[in-house]
Amino acid sequence: MDILPVILAKNLFFCYGVKRALKITSNSIKTCKMSIYTFGPLIHNPQVVRDLEGKGVKAVNNLRGIKEGILIIPAHGIAPQIINEAKAKGLRLIDATCPYVQRVKDLAKSLKDEGYQVIIVGDQGHPEVEGILGFIKEKAVVLTKSSQIRPAKIAKKVGVVAQTTQTLDNFQTIVRNLLKFTKELKVYNTICEETIKRQTSARRIAKVVDLMLVIGGKNSANTNRLAKICQEEVKTYHIEEAKELKAGWLKGKKRIGIAAGASTPDWIVKEVVNKVRSGK
Ligand code: SF4
Repeated sequence: MDILPVILAKNLFFCYGVKRALKITSNSIKTCKMSIYTFGPLIHNPQVVRDLEGKGVKAVNNLRGIKEGILIIPAHGIAPQIINEAKAKGLRLIDATCPYVQRVKDLAKSLKDEGYQVIIVGDQGHPEVEGILGFIKEKAVVLTKSSQIRPAKIAKKVGVVAQTTQTLDNFQTIVRNLLKFTKELKVYNTICEETIKRQTSARRIAKVVDLMLVIGGKNSANTNRLAKICQEEVKTYHIEEAKELKAGWLKGKKRIGIAAGASTPDWIVKEVVNKVRSGK
C-alpha cells in the first residue's frame, strides 16, 4: 500500500509554558501527600487532563467544598480573586502560570498605572483574559474583532495588549482601527512567539496540501486559531485524537498537512501521523 505523504508543521509538540506547567505538576505529584487540584484544566487538552486525573490531580471550577490541599494555577493563569479565595481557605498555592501569560498581566497593569485605558485583544471569557482583567482590577475593554470597537467608548490615551494566542493579523487590524479614535496609543505585542511560529508554519503548509489536520483540544484557543488559519487556505479538520480520523477524508488526497496546538502531547500527534500515513 502507498504511504500518504505527510507534511508536518514546525513546533508540533508541547510549548515551553505547557512543558513547564506539566513539570511543576509532576513534581507536586511526586513530592506532596495532600490532595492536588487545578483551577480549571491545567492545560487545554482533555486527554492530558484525564491522564492527570488518573494520577490524582483534580480539575475544579470553584473552590466550594475544598478545605485543604494544593491548588495549582494553570498555564493560562487565573484571576486574583480565586487566588485570594484559595489563600483565605489556607490552600497551598503552586503557580504554573506561563511566564509569557504573566508578562501580559504585568504590562496591562503598567499601562493602567500610567493612566491608559487598557484594551485587551482577546476572547471574552477566556481564562487568560479573565486573569488579566482581574489582575488590573479595572474595567478594561476586550475586543475580539475590529467591528466591536465603539468609538464613543475609546479614551484619549489607550494602551493595548493581546491574549498570547491571538493572530498577528487580527491584532494589527484592531490596532490600526483604534488609531482612528484615540490621540495616544501605546501597544505591546504580547502574542507569544511560539504561537506566531505555529501559525506561520501551519499557514505555509496549508497553502501546499490538499487537506490539513489540526490536532488539539477543542477547548484550546491556540488550536482553534490554528484550525481557522488553515481553513482559510484549504479544507481542514480539527481533531483531538487519531480515532476521530475518517478514512473518507483522505480519499483522493495527495498530500496531507498536520499541525498541532501548543498543548497537544507528542503521543497523540504520532498516532495521527501513523494513521494518516497508513491511509486507513
Ligand atoms: S503558547 Fe506561549 S503563552 Fe501559551 S503556554 Fe505556551 S509558551 Fe506560554
